[in-house]
Amino acid sequence: MAIDSALSSPPAPPACEKHAKALQFIEEMTRNCDAVQEKVLAEILSQNAETEYLSRFGLGGSTDRDMFKSKVPVVTYEDLQPEIQRIANGDRSPILSAHPISEFLTSSGTSAGERKLMPTIEEELDRRQLLYSLLMPVMNLYVPGLDKGKGLYFLFVKAETKTPGGLLARPVLTSYYNSKQFKTRPYDPYMVYTSPNEAILCVDSFQSMYAQMLCGLYMREEVLRMGAVFASGLVRAIRFLQLNCQQLAHDISTGTLNPKITNPSIRECMSKILKPNPELSEFITKECSGENWECIITRIWPNTKYLDVIVTGAMAQYIPTLDYYSGGLPKLCTMYASSECYFGLNLKPVCEPSEVSYTIMPMMAYFEFLPHPAPTLSRDSPPRLVDLADVEEGKEYELIVTTYAGLCRYRVGDILRVTGFHNSAPQFQFVRRKNVLLSIDSDKTDESELQKAVENASILLREFNTSVVEYTSYSDTKSIPGHYVIYWELMVKDPANPPTDEVLNSCCLAMEESLNSVYRQGRVADNSIGPLEIRVVKNGTFEELMDYAISRGASINQYKVPRCVSFTPITELLDSRAVSTHFSPAAPHWTAERRRTA
Ligand code: AMP
Repeated sequence: MAIDSALSSPPAPPACEKHAKALQFIEEMTRNCDAVQEKVLAEILSQNAETEYLSRFGLGGSTDRDMFKSKVPVVTYEDLQPEIQRIANGDRSPILSAHPISEFLTSSGTSAGERKLMPTIEEELDRRQLLYSLLMPVMNLYVPGLDKGKGLYFLFVKAETKTPGGLLARPVLTSYYNSKQFKTRPYDPYMVYTSPNEAILCVDSFQSMYAQMLCGLYMREEVLRMGAVFASGLVRAIRFLQLNCQQLAHDISTGTLNPKITNPSIRECMSKILKPNPELSEFITKECSGENWECIITRIWPNTKYLDVIVTGAMAQYIPTLDYYSGGLPKLCTMYASSECYFGLNLKPVCEPSEVSYTIMPMMAYFEFLPHPAPTLSRDSPPRLVDLADVEEGKEYELIVTTYAGLCRYRVGDILRVTGFHNSAPQFQFVRRKNVLLSIDSDKTDESELQKAVENASILLREFNTSVVEYTSYSDTKSIPGHYVIYWELMVKDPANPPTDEVLNSCCLAMEESLNSVYRQGRVADNSIGPLEIRVVKNGTFEELMDYAISRGASINQYKVPRCVSFTPITELLDSRAVSTHFSPAAPHWTAERRRTA
């Protein structure tokens, strides 16, 4: 069945007994949403009753939901930082969790410029695995026949570090791909990937991508679905093909491996796959040599039925590029997850990106919802949170989670809108992440970080008696990789001695040096973000911007310069007033080690 007809047809029956069981499990969980939530909270509270954190609030071992809600505060990462720091420093006493903290998951959210450290426990791996195991049974209802071929997924691990107390700190996917649950997964015809584990598990992003791409090219006709976690990753893979197609074609033609691939495990496993195939090599050269990259995905991988990538939230900006590369193949978003907790899945994955709704699975953690916009939080009048089963359709909420690993009433920072229900479990559209202005890959830059970066960079302008009078920003994803564009309006007090080109380039680098470690890692280790650009605009441009906003109904008294813009007429106005453009001349500093804070 073609995928387009699947959009309108009723689902197919489960593909096998295992899938039928998984679907039944989803039905049970979603039918009994509130009861499951009550049970999960009771389990978490009894498991962690003796922890230092929970003991503080005088629950006295009670697992009662109302008591929990009235006594335990809603917190942010910053509130928990002292406890997290003690665990990181090696305190093994039961601080947040009765079970030992097995490692820290480094979130792409940051605190004081560094990735947040999310404690996790061994059993959470099984919970994540459980959610993964539900994806294909659902997908098969809508796209049958996926057992007849393979998935070309570009999956990556990142550098790991150790905390002073010796615990591993790494991103959640790096943890998952290194787990036995992933590495020694039993054969499943619906989960056959073209990428060997050896390629996925190589920390060097070039070598990893090269080997994964080479495998994908060799197995081009078997590929039925293609994906990456986020849309930015898939766009980057196609760009990688563009930049490296000659060498890849050479390797395919000769059956040898690019000498830049030095990782011994990759070399060994690739030696079993590489065979001289001049015909394939010629085909790749022909398809990739021209300027026209439209439909390159379907030209090279003609049997691809859909793209499996997250295009919701900040990733929506990549939809036009993916459509261009794939000739508009369906882009299916299957899962909603974070370092804190895996939340849920999309039970109707074949849909337009704007229609994507995730069903939070009630067995994953205990979930509460803070109506958004939030009432002012204070200790005396704690906010009233709504339970998972009680959220109302059409309303927006901030997600709050209580996990088995010991986060209690933790603000994730995501804003979700209820779009409907599956049985009694609500379904949510991801609206946005709070306080994020700029994002290209997994980086998230907020207003205060941008402000600080502009302030730090403008110090370089002092010797030219120049200051930045206004600024705004834009995530430019037309370039691959995407990059931050910062528009500056300058006041040059000494027109005979304006800032030089060189100093403005250095300002770009100074901004990058000030941005958080996830941004800098994207620039340095992952190559997923391009050099930051400053566009200097003519004097008076920001006044024009204000006039434009007022002409569209903004109040003159309340007008504030937007610190990030995306609306095309506005970016066009800014670009038409640009007098010079400047790029960062070098990569900023980044190491896997965390910066030591006092
Ligand atoms: P991290 O903790 O670094 O893994 O980042 C998790 C965050 O990524 C979530 O809190 C969301 O803001 C975002 N995210 C994860 N899955 C999705 C999704 N399916 N759609 C939109 N944003 C997502």
